[in-house]
Amino acid sequence: MKPPPFGYRRAESIPQALEWYAEFEGEAIWLAGGHSVVPSLALRLQAPSVLIDISRLPELSGIVLTEAGLRIGATTTHAEILSDPLVREHAPLLSEAAHHVAHPAIRNRATFGGNLALADPASEFPAVVRCLGAVLDIVGPDGEREVDADDFFLDLYTTAMEPGEILRSILIPRQPPSARMRFSELARRHGDFAMVGAAVRLMQEGGRTIDARICFHAVGTVPVRAHSAENALTGHPLDLDRICSARDALSNDLEPADDPSMPGKMRLHLAGVLLGRVLHSLSDGSLNREDAR
Ligand SMILES: Cc1cc2nc3c(=O)[nH]c(=O)nc-3n(C[C@H](O)[C@H](O)[C@H](O)COP(=O)(O)OP(=O)(O)OC[C@H]3O[C@@H](n4cnc5c(N)ncnc54)[C@H](O)[C@@H]3O)c2cc1C
Repeated sequence: MKPPPFGYRRAESIPQALEWYAEFEGEAIWLAGGHSVVPSLALRLQAPSVLIDISRLPELSGIVLTEAGLRIGATTTHAEILSDPLVREHAPLLSEAAHHVAHPAIRNRATFGGNLALADPASEFPAVVRCLGAVLDIVGPDGEREVDADDFFLDLYTTAMEPGEILRSILIPRQPPSARMRFSELARRHGDFAMVGAAVRLMQEGGRTIDARICFHAVGTVPVRAHSAENALTGHPLDLDRICSARDALSNDLEPADDPSMPGKMRLHLAGVLLGRVLHSLSDGSLNREDAR
């Protein structure tokens, strides 16, 4: 199918972008990497009057390390996330996840901000930013505001951003030195959207887990924190018993719906398998790999 006719403008600054958005009174949409917007036009899922290209806005670019953490501009591409040395050092979970997002051709154009703004529940990055306690920096006609990643993803393809707002950057807070992290997913083929995926961050002290953050994607309408599984781990050594308890607790955290690709129960089972593997890989390695399955 061909897209409906639309206009195109490339903004040079945030004020100009906001002014143009207001001019089109709700008939405009932002364009970043275009890897979701353009297919949606071709499928006639939306018909905006104009695409306002924000991919070259200087305020949305760059990766800098600040006292608070790593600030990643919204137009940073997935490929940059994958290869940037600062990301690898200060947010290795993101680099790990980027490896699973689509294929190089997509990663070269699609942006971190576009991915989060789209809020596809099957997507990897939303789970990672929730796991890492990121803060999203948003600018719009009413000024600037910050939203915690925990409050950003509201529903299927729905975020806390209001129409006309722009996601400017994402702050990944400095991670505690004792934090150990791992991202993994199960997909039919590498690069496909996952059947289930998980971002996990554990902090351990004196042989016990003192803090656990586990966030799944592709199990519901938003990235889902597994609080019961986190609680099952907290205060205990990461041994086989605890891994089994965390897996068992997942049925309190996740309620995947049946869909044409698989029954919800199957997805829940896969989530447990994945969590077992991830926790095993974060343990001291003394567990038998088969035991963790
Ligand atoms: C073949 C294919 C395979 C893919 N596989 C995966 C995958 O395995 N995992 C995965 O996570 N993703 C996957 N994607 C999606 C891709 O990774 C991007 O997430 C997606 O294209 C959105 O990023 P973008 O920069 O292209 O945004 P765009 O398509 O330009 O925009 C997406 C939406 O976000 C809005 N938007 C963009 N930037 C901003 C901003 N800064 N502020 C406010 N709103 C904004 C736009 O208006 C639009 O509504 C795939 C895409 C394709 C085409």
